[in-house]
This record gives sequence, structure tokens and C-alpha cells, in this order.
Amino acid sequence: MVRRVAVVGAGVSGLTATKCCLEEGLEPTCFERSEDIGGLWRYTEHVEEGRASIYRTVFTNSCKEMMCYPDFPFPEDHPNYMHNARLQQYIRDYAQHFDLLRHIRFKTVVTNIRKRPDFRATGQWEVVTQRDGKEETAVFDAVMICSGHHIYPNLPLDHFPGIEKFKGCYLHSREYKEPEKFRGKKVLVVGLGNSGCDIAVELSTVASQVYLSSRSGSWVLSRICDHGYPWDMVIITRFRTWLDSILPKAVNDWLYVRGMNQLVKHENFGLMPVNRTSRKEPVLNDDLLSRITCGVVLIKPDVKEFRETSVVFQDGTVQDDVDVVVFATGYTYSYPFMEDESIIKSRNNEVTLYKSILPPHLEKPTMAVIGLVQSYGSVIPTADLQCRWTIKVFQGGPSFPLPQRYGSSTTLQTDYITYMDELASAIGAKPNVLKLLVTDPRLALEVFFGPCTPYQFRLTGPGRWSGARRAILTQWDRMLR
Ligand code: FAD
Repeated sequence: MVRRVAVVGAGVSGLTATKCCLEEGLEPTCFERSEDIGGLWRYTEHVEEGRASIYRTVFTNSCKEMMCYPDFPFPEDHPNYMHNARLQQYIRDYAQHFDLLRHIRFKTVVTNIRKRPDFRATGQWEVVTQRDGKEETAVFDAVMICSGHHIYPNLPLDHFPGIEKFKGCYLHSREYKEPEKFRGKKVLVVGLGNSGCDIAVELSTVASQVYLSSRSGSWVLSRICDHGYPWDMVIITRFRTWLDSILPKAVNDWLYVRGMNQLVKHENFGLMPVNRTSRKEPVLNDDLLSRITCGVVLIKPDVKEFRETSVVFQDGTVQDDVDVVVFATGYTYSYPFMEDESIIKSRNNEVTLYKSILPPHLEKPTMAVIGLVQSYGSVIPTADLQCRWTIKVFQGGPSFPLPQRYGSSTTLQTDYITYMDELASAIGAKPNVLKLLVTDPRLALEVFFGPCTPYQFRLTGPGRWSGARRAILTQWDRMLR
């Protein structure tokens, strides 16, 4: 029987893991290496080892109704998209409201996690931690890894010939905090993801010129779409997911590309994704297109080579006198505290997890990786449902496959509603729209045609929240407010 659970990290995922354990009568101990909760969302002026680092002006890309914990809506007067400091305050309120702080051991680094010798029979883990140089080992029945996935920079310098000759300076976006020290400089930003675009736009207000290089393009959306409503409240609906599932692929793809090009024809801006129909996470940026139109951000193809003071691009163009390069080239996954990292990472260094949560080859399913899945949806509600599902697995829920059958691992990129429904169905938390149509038609219509907000997954099942119905029926009011 699983009773004692170690939770690694007290970011948004670790907090919900701790809360979900408490809800189910388990005994969580959450270890957090830094002195506070919040993880990535706790801005500091200096980069801290082992913790995600954000720039001062990070705003959320998911709106408040789509990003909240499913039983803890944002206060009405919060803006739809918010600055990291406001989100951090919300995270603090959540931890206080559910009395989570007393289960967290701060300034305590998890340094090693290994199977107990009798793991085959017990599924137990030995967790080694360090605090003030003092080491402790404890035994846990299960482990939830919530250590984040934006910590270890992906900086593939060998893909950039000549970088060793480059006389300017270069840095990874993890080290970028604010634009002032780039005033008057010519800056190249490599990477057309959310961070690359944010940084390019911000630098364009002070730099003499910004170049933004992309290998494969990206769809760029604005936070506000049809009639000024939040993009995710309009796009992420059960109705759309249902349409996707019944339309032929060719029609689906055509509609998708048309929808993405609605605001702007990406081709004209040099942004067109190479694989236009792949449902890769879009970039959310409200200012990039105007910066390109005004010429302060210049879109460039992939870098071919660096020279001492210039950069050559794949189309043969050369930019001289480049002072700084910011590599917004993403992150790699790493679990340095795992004695055997291959439990999570496969041989070719990729992470493959059953339902994007469980390491597939364990004799006992007593370890989970939370918050790693990538979709249009926000991490907070996803992590919440992942934790509730995981705890049912820990408790040996009858409808789960045997561990040896976990072999068929799923990819980490997934459709939000399909994925959430899969997890929710398994634990009886998926809203039954047809049944609701008979018992509560108003709610049924909002659940099906309205945004798939997190509250939907707390209408029924373990952790049911009595305020969920009301929260769904008032979600547009809070958004307008
Ligand atoms: P983290 O927030 O990274 O927290 C992990 C915690 O684990 C940290 O506190 C760390 O100190 C601790 N830790 C790590 N290793 C150890 C160890 N060995 N021992 C003890 N403690 C440890 N997502 C959205 O849903 N919406 C958005 O708008 C959004 N915007 C983003 C913008 C940027 C610029 C970035 C980079 C990401 C964004 N994300 C967004 C994704 C983001 O990762 C999640 O919102 C969220 O922060 C993930 O939370 P987490 O708890 O899984 O990880």
C-alpha cells in the first residue's frame, strides 16, 4: 500500500501533487531546493542553479480561466493574462488556502533516488536529500517528480560552425533578464519559440537592430483573438476537438492552416512553419508582427556559420557587426538525482513515459513524472489531473493495466482535451455531456461549446469540487471583468 510519497520540487506541479496526496489520505513530503515555492514563476534577478530562470517581463500565455487550479479560480479582478509576480501571488494563495506549506522542506535538495533492494516486492524508493551540507536518507512508497523542465539549457554549439571564432558575446535565454545592457547593440536571437520572440520584441526597444533566426518557422498567434476574446477560451473547446475527430484529415489540416493564417499570412513574414500541419505549440506574441513590419526585428533563416564579427545565414545573406547572440534554443530534460536515469530517459536521450507520466519499465508503478507533457493547454490543470490519475495508479486502481504492459509509451506532444479526457475517464472525472444534457442542459452546453476550463475535471470523480458548476457558468463573467 502506498502511504508515504516524496514530491520533488514545489513549483506549480509539486504543490498540486502535495495537495492531491493529502486529498487521498496519503502522506506527502515535498522537497524544494530553494527557499520558497513557485518554481519557474518566482522571479529572481540572478539565475539559481537547478531552478528555472525567467526574464523580468514574462507574462502568461494561458488566460486565467484556462490556467487556474481547477478548484481555485483566480480572483475576478485579475487580468486575463498576467505578469509573473501576480501569478506567483496566486500560487502563494493556493498553498496557503490548502495549508500545503507545512508539508514542504525548503532548502532541501534531492540528490539521489534509487530503488530499494526489495523494490520488486515493495515498489519502495530510497530518497537522499541534502540540507545545509547534511545528508539524510528516507524510504518512500512512491515518488512524484515535479522538478521542472526548463532548467538545463539546450545549447548545441556544434550546430553552429565558427562560434568559437565569434568575438561578440553569446548567452542562452535562461541567462537573459532585462534589455538595458543591450542598448545600442546589434543582437541576433536564435530560435522562434515563445522565449525567442519575447526577447526579440523586448530587445527591439533598445537595440540598434534585432535579427531573429529560425530553422523551421512557427505559427504566431496573438493572446487575443476573435472579437478580442482570449485565444485559448475560443480555441480550446470540446466542440472543436469533436469536429477534428470527425472531419477527414485533409479538411482538418486545411482548416487548421487557414485558421492559423487568419490574422496574418505567415509566408509574407518569413514565419511559415516548415511542417505546416503539425500541431506544434504556437508562439503567443502580440507585438512581434508589428515589430517585423516596422523593420526593428528582421526575420532570418537558420545560421550557416559564425565569423569573427558577422553571421552568415542559410540563404547566403551576411549580417556584419553583430555584437550579441541570444540562443533561445530551449531546454533538455535531465534528472540528475536519479541513480539510474535510464528509468526515465531512453537510450537515445529521449523521455518516453506511459501517458506521459509513468516510466514504462518499472516492476511496480510507484514513480511519476508530472508536468512534462506539451499541449495547447496550461500546465497547472494538466498537472492537477496527472496527479489525481497517478495517485489512483499508486493505489492500485482496478482499471489500470499491469506494469509490464506499460511498454507502449506515448509521445509528450499531445492534444489537450483528448489527453485530459483519457486521464479523467480512467478515474471517473470526465464530464458526461450526454447525461448532463438531460440533467443540467445549461451546464452541458457550456461544457461542450464553451472553453474546456479546468473546472470541468472537478465536476465529478475523486477530488470533486462543489464550486465547479458555478465556476463554469460564470467563467465568461470573470473573463470580462
Ligand atoms: P518548475 O516551475 O520549474 O518548478 C520545479 C521546482 O523543483 C523548482 O522550485 C525547483 O527549485 C525544484 N527542484 C528542482 N530540482 C530539485 C531537486 N533536485 N530537489 C529539490 N527541488 C528541486 N505554462 C503555462 O501553463 N502557461 C504559461 O503561460 C507558461 N508560460 C511560460 C513562460 C516561460 C518563459 C516558460 C519558460 C515556461 C512557461 N510555461 C507556461 C511552462 C512552465 O514550465 C509551467 O507553467 C510551470 O512553471 C511548470 O511548473 P513545474 O512545477 O512543473 O516546474
